[in-house]
Amino acid sequence: MMKVRTRIAPSPTGFPHVGTAYIALFNLCFAKQHGGEFILRIEDTDQLRSTPESEKMILDSLRWLGLNWSEGPDVGGPHAPYRQSERMGIYKQYALDLIDKGHAFYCFATAEELDQMRAEQMARGETPKYDGRGLKLSQDEVQQRLAAGEPHVIRMKVPEDGICKIHDLLRGEVEIPWTQVDMQVLLKTDGLPTYHLANVVDDHLMEITHVLRGEEWLPSAPKHQLLYQYFGWDMPTLCHMPLLRNPDKSKLSKRKNPTSINYYRDIGVLPEALLNYLGRMGWSMPDEREVFTLTDMIEHFDIQRVSLGGPIFDVEKLNWLNGQWIKSLTAAQLLDRLLNWKSDRNTLEEIAAAIQPRIHLLSEAVNWAGFYFNHMPTITAEMFESKKLTQEQVRQSLQFAIWRLESQFSWNNDTVSQTLMDLATQMQIKLRDFMPAFFIAIAGSTSSTPVMQSMVTLGPDLTFARLRHALEIVGAPSKKELKAWEKLNEALKLPKNDAVDEA
Ligand code: GLU
Repeated sequence: MMKVRTRIAPSPTGFPHVGTAYIALFNLCFAKQHGGEFILRIEDTDQLRSTPESEKMILDSLRWLGLNWSEGPDVGGPHAPYRQSERMGIYKQYALDLIDKGHAFYCFATAEELDQMRAEQMARGETPKYDGRGLKLSQDEVQQRLAAGEPHVIRMKVPEDGICKIHDLLRGEVEIPWTQVDMQVLLKTDGLPTYHLANVVDDHLMEITHVLRGEEWLPSAPKHQLLYQYFGWDMPTLCHMPLLRNPDKSKLSKRKNPTSINYYRDIGVLPEALLNYLGRMGWSMPDEREVFTLTDMIEHFDIQRVSLGGPIFDVEKLNWLNGQWIKSLTAAQLLDRLLNWKSDRNTLEEIAAAIQPRIHLLSEAVNWAGFYFNHMPTITAEMFESKKLTQEQVRQSLQFAIWRLESQFSWNNDTVSQTLMDLATQMQIKLRDFMPAFFIAIAGSTSSTPVMQSMVTLGPDLTFARLRHALEIVGAPSKKELKAWEKLNEALKLPKNDAVDEA
């Protein structure tokens, strides 16, 4: 029998998401239960959005959870390299091969041309979709335009009608009409592959037998299945896992729940408890016990016990479960956990430097430094009342700061300070009136260590959680406000046009 091989294939474009850990966990359990291998591949074909920092955070956090892979970019393996950016020489030949076989074609349409095509389709009340214009070009014309060096992409052919049947391990047969499937770009103008091409080629070359991935990929399955047929390869068995949801059933999003694994690590969730909790997302032990280890889960794993109703990721329940885990430790084990948690010397030294000018006795350190270790400071709406600012200004300053800091990829004193100072200037608020809300949100008090550095020391995950919590307390924007505020935030960034101001 073929050896079972599964993989997690994260794209390193942000913070390590709990959803990635959830999918990794199920892939690992499935592989181990069948005596197979679980591997890790980095899908960084989106070169603009992928960063080495993100990749490192993802690998570190999966390791922290104890989700170990036997092949990957850091450990190597028989199918190395495991980072798609290092495999760029591989994919083009496969796209050209599909052209030769008549399953793919060149398209020279410019972005403007395609925009216009979509606009016309929408004006006719149709769903915008690539109209197959590249297929209408004659062989000669294609050759001429290629010879002239015209920019082009390679797209796959897709049937115009009929139904695509996908077999999914959890859903059985899923039917998707071909009219809903676009003639996907496989190779971009720069000669690099899209996710779809690279993903299929790599799963094949890396001998992946089962693909367990998020439900959001189900609409891509027809393209992938077709590519396997075009190449003449066996397709791995597909299994689309239900998406994690917020308690209000919406798709898990950082607006409602922190989604970064680092956040849960930083507030003191034990890795075993987080894994245990993720294992309960849509799955249960045959005896329904709530507390179980990864080894227990592997031993009793059965993919058919995954239920398709959207599993709710509820921080309160996670905290409860973490409490069970903490209670099960001996005091000595708990002490070790406490000493290891936030034991990073650089961070501790930053905290020491921040409180140094403020303390006379070592014992005063607890009061001054407590907020660095707390989950959340205790705050009330009254604390944000300001003589100088309206409540709306306070709410906007918090929301705008969240948005702007979120797009801030390097997190240090310069970038955080600059972001907040620019925002204050653009909102025409004096820094001394602007900052108190941030002190309260982050430290729970206006007399605290310098807040911009505190945000840097706390890191983005805890900072965002506290700023969002503060915004909740003072009043989160309504849907209507959100729309207007997004525009306002962007408008503030534009250079002031004095002529207009004076008019
Ligand atoms: N790179 C994709 C992601 O980030 C992988 C999807 C798949 O597993 O095919 O989710």
